[in-house]
Amino acid sequence: MPLYAYRCDEDGPVDVMRPMGAAPPVLACPTCGADAPRMITAPRLRADRARVAAIDRAESSRTEPTVVSAPPPRPAGPRPAPRLDPRTAALPRP
Ligand SMILES: [Zn+2]
Repeated sequence: MPLYAYRCDEDGPVDVMRPMGAAPPVLACPTCGADAPRMITAPRLRADRARVAAIDRAESSRTEPTVVSAPPPRPAGPRPAPRLDPRTAALPRP
């Protein structure tokens, strides 16, 4: 059953589960009873946690971008050796 999103001017977003195609264009807000028009949102057909977290991060970065002053720290320990292309093993060595 899909999740439909509405927005009340007083109370903010309201999510409602309804059968496919049975969502009215305007819903009465469950908190105040005012008309809450339906919002057009990206479909969330599967509740994949990683995908939902990525969508939430992307949406929050639009309005609250993370401000950094330096690059992230390097991991501790020696750097791993670069992976060589296995095709170079057959080449002549000096
Ligand atoms: Zn309301």
